Amino acid sequence: MFASLTREQSPAPPLETQSVFALPIHLCRDYAAWVRSRLEAGQGTHIVTLNAEMAMLADQTPQLAQVIQQADLVVPDGAGVVFYLKLRRYSQTRCPGIELAAALIEAIGTAEQPGKIIFYGAAPGVAEQAAQVWRDRYPALEIITQNGYLDDSQAADFAEFLATEQPQLILVGLGVPRQEYWIAQHRQHCPQATWVGVGGSLDIWAGIKLRAPVWLRENNLEWFYRLYKEPWRWRRMLVLPKFAWAALWR
Ligand code: UDP
Repeated sequence: MFASLTREQSPAPPLETQSVFALPIHLCRDYAAWVRSRLEAGQGTHIVTLNAEMAMLADQTPQLAQVIQQADLVVPDGAGVVFYLKLRRYSQTRCPGIELAAALIEAIGTAEQPGKIIFYGAAPGVAEQAAQVWRDRYPALEIITQNGYLDDSQAADFAEFLATEQPQLILVGLGVPRQEYWIAQHRQHCPQATWVGVGGSLDIWAGIKLRAPVWLRENNLEWFYRLYKEPWRWRRMLVLPKFAWAALWR
């Protein structure tokens, strides 16, 4: 069992399960509090941060759909998913994965006995740069980093290393769906840990990429900013209107 994060353990807020197409989505007034109570109890948790692109990919890819169905928490990380829920009269606010991951790092960083955190993913040096930003903020944090470009034998060594370290939180930034598959394959090595696929969050914390300005985020236009910054995404983003259409008519 992990050391408790806070002196006063508060009960977890309720979680309601709904669906987006055939995928689960969880509704909650405070996701970070829900996950914190699992961290305190040492209950292993796989968190998927669902957006429209991932939902459409899972719609075409049974293997990804299965991983999402087996996750413990699926949060609406994307304007499209929130729109889908709104159409069905669920007023759930967006839960960006990067913000949920930051709240968990902060909870561990301010705990009486902070546990270990792993940052796995991104180009060599990036995870370490991101970790340093967090260590500067919370000096008690122990963050171990590994870049996301390992060959097979290095990847096997890393999985073994994880099993010996038993970190409390494992943030995996390998991109969708690679990070979801990797977590599903490896979570048995650290059954008490919280695992989150964080996409490009390590790049953002390291200062290599920028998040969309707040006004774009607040107007559900983060996708537009990503397209502007990374035009190569246009093909992947063609699924967004398809998602909107399916959300309206399915
Ligand atoms: N990445 C990685 N290993 C790979 C492929 C990608 O570590 O084999 C990293 C990449 O360097 C980047 C992240 O995965 O840091 C993907 O970020 P992106 O914003 O594209 O994530 P997504 O849009 O899929 O959530």
